[in-house]
Amino acid sequence: MTTALYPGSFDPVTLGHLDIVLRAASMYDSVVVAVAHSRSALFSTDERVAFFSEAVADLPNVRVIAHHGLTVDCARAEGATVLVKGLRSTTDFSYEFDMALMNRKMAPDVDSAFLMTSVEYLVLSSSRVRELASFGLDVSDLVPPGVAAALQEKFGEE
Ligand code: ADP
Repeated sequence: MTTALYPGSFDPVTLGHLDIVLRAASMYDSVVVAVAHSRSALFSTDERVAFFSEAVADLPNVRVIAHHGLTVDCARAEGATVLVKGLRSTTDFSYEFDMALMNRKMAPDVDSAFLMTSVEYLVLSSSRVRELASFGLDVSDLVPPGVAAALQEKFGEE
């Protein structure tokens, strides 16, 4: 039984993240999505966990948790032996390459696996979604419906 951990800030979860988690869920027995605490996030940790949980409610082998601290510690606590990461670009690659080597140095029992983005999500990131929504643009084709509604509520008020 192999458990994979999919860590990130998911501020907020996008269809790009969901594509990665769906594919990971078909490769591993179970997937734990670890939502990192962040003081600078637009949405609270609880909100980010709730958005992701709602979006994967129909995937029985996916769980969503909040975490802070080292990703490898979270992986060990969850019994995960694989860290799943999504790659969009060579910028993602260089960042993730360093991170994977550092994580493996700290935890040789936890390895990293990389899934290439699907081409339709190549330029999709949470920061781009936040920026577009802050200008009042419709992002309902980029994020799950619950997130689109929350963004509209947040920026609609301003
Ligand atoms: P971001 O703000 O860039 O979306 P996150 O920390 O929330 O960053 O991302 C978590 C993980 O999901 C990272 O491994 C990241 O590379 C990956 N990811 C983010 N967006 C996409 C996408 N559109 N396609 C594939 N992987 C993605």
